[in-house]
Amino acid sequence: MMNVPLTLPAMLERAEKFFPKKEVITRTSTGTHRINYKDLTERTRKLSHALEKLGVREGERVGTFAWNHYRHLEAYFAIPGMGGVLHTINIRLAAQHISYIVNHAEDKVLLIDADLLPLVEAVQDELKTVEAFIVMTDDEELPETKLSPVYHYEKLLKEADGTYEFKKDIDENAAAGMCYTSATTGNPKGVVYSHRGIVLHSMALGLADTAAVSESDVAMPVVPMFHANAWGLPFAAVWFGSNQVMPGAQFSPKTIAEQIESERVTITAGVPTIWLGLLRELETGDYDTSSLRSVLCGGSAAPKGMIRAFEEEYNVPFLHAYGMTETAPLATISRLKSYQKDLPEEERLEIRSKQGSLVPGLEMKVIGKDGEVAWDGKEMGELLLRGPWIADEYYQDERSAEAFQDGWLYTGDVVTVDEEGIIKIVDRTKDLIKSGGEWISSVDLENALMAHEDVFEAAVIAVPHPELQERPVACVVLKDGANSSQGDLYEFLKPQFAKWWLPDDIVFMESIPKTSVGKFLKRALRDQLEDHFTI
Ligand code: ADP
Repeated sequence: MMNVPLTLPAMLERAEKFFPKKEVITRTSTGTHRINYKDLTERTRKLSHALEKLGVREGERVGTFAWNHYRHLEAYFAIPGMGGVLHTINIRLAAQHISYIVNHAEDKVLLIDADLLPLVEAVQDELKTVEAFIVMTDDEELPETKLSPVYHYEKLLKEADGTYEFKKDIDENAAAGMCYTSATTGNPKGVVYSHRGIVLHSMALGLADTAAVSESDVAMPVVPMFHANAWGLPFAAVWFGSNQVMPGAQFSPKTIAEQIESERVTITAGVPTIWLGLLRELETGDYDTSSLRSVLCGGSAAPKGMIRAFEEEYNVPFLHAYGMTETAPLATISRLKSYQKDLPEEERLEIRSKQGSLVPGLEMKVIGKDGEVAWDGKEMGELLLRGPWIADEYYQDERSAEAFQDGWLYTGDVVTVDEEGIIKIVDRTKDLIKSGGEWISSVDLENALMAHEDVFEAAVIAVPHPELQERPVACVVLKDGANSSQGDLYEFLKPQFAKWWLPDDIVFMESIPKTSVGKFLKRALRDQLEDHFTI
């Protein structure tokens, strides 16, 4: 059959041709900005042209430093559309990591949101390869900035050609994007996405048994566009002609709830901490969330209590998925099989709170102490993945050899697989609690705690122990006005776990530190409680 390359420009051109009226709706500082795919494509062509005029050549990286909005979406297609590589930079990284990744990726141009300029200015002197800064702003004039040479996004577009033809002869295996993922220690590691990988991943997002993204959707990526391409949702939504709703800068649970209501959002995606915040907002306000058909949740385990709250109290269907920056990211998604739909409610919830089944197109293996584990839901092993949207190395990084071996990605996630082939993440290798030669899952304990009506957030960590190597300690944030005691929480946990699994201590906190992508920052908690059992 025809060996037609799978490339990004074809996705946008499909939206331009078949869905010109469909819209991208962005929350701005002054209200709501709307643009249809016809006009967005014309602006994207102009941006491609402008980048070419600035001297960006095929294969060169262009960094984005931006929230989720229509200009960022234009960059998503304009950079790969002219043969460049879209490098989305995590705006929440520490300054030394920001300069590291810009230098490591050798970004030639940076596109920056006006309100984020101070973050780039702070590292300006460290940046070795950047030849131009483009500021994305709604204002007519550029804000004051030390950056140089600096350009106004809209002015560049005004001078560029809206009939620019995207590159025709792109190799589908060429780099289209890249994103750095945080490492446990040391600098972030770069993952490169090929055109082909992104196209096939987008196709996977459209399958009925995965996220089923379609033309009739109004898709709102809350997960940042700098976190694994907002899980690929913006790419898929463009290709399928879905309306897209962008939360804009400095969004909050309140603004998210308002956008869901006003734009009739049908599918949205984000990490559990976002949804915990939204739940709290829904409890206080009177919002209409009836348009939602799926809240896609991943990045960390979705607590069962949260799934139940969304579904029972707000009638909002929840979709738990798993993936990594290295996997573009969708790898597994949790849906009931047809013959599981009549199971008792608790059992269904139990299955749906697992990470789910492997997405078509990927392969998996789970390796325990003695080779592949039994599919019995008990034996634990490390999950290995391979497939057309799984990275095969870290970009120019010696640490590749550890994670990529014999054609497989070693995910660093410890899982069990049940008789149905459904995986459950027990922990990240580094977060497992090794107590007296046995393993305790921090994730299971957290989920149990978060199912308690008084608990807002809970993170369980391994704390060094003089006799048992490590013991679990729970860090708990109670809901506003709640007053459960340690004893109450122990009573709640006891019937659910073996005695030796119970945390040795429960520490109440005002808040739990979060990573740059909104996950619990267990490293900080471990540092804080390191001497808990020794002094
Ligand atoms: P970072 O390493 O910076 O957290 P990623 O977003 O790439 O960046 O994180 C991927 C990791 O997040 C996975 O390896 C896994 O440990 C965790 N993860 C992702 N989705 C889930 C999920 N649904 N349940 C539990 N853990 C998850």
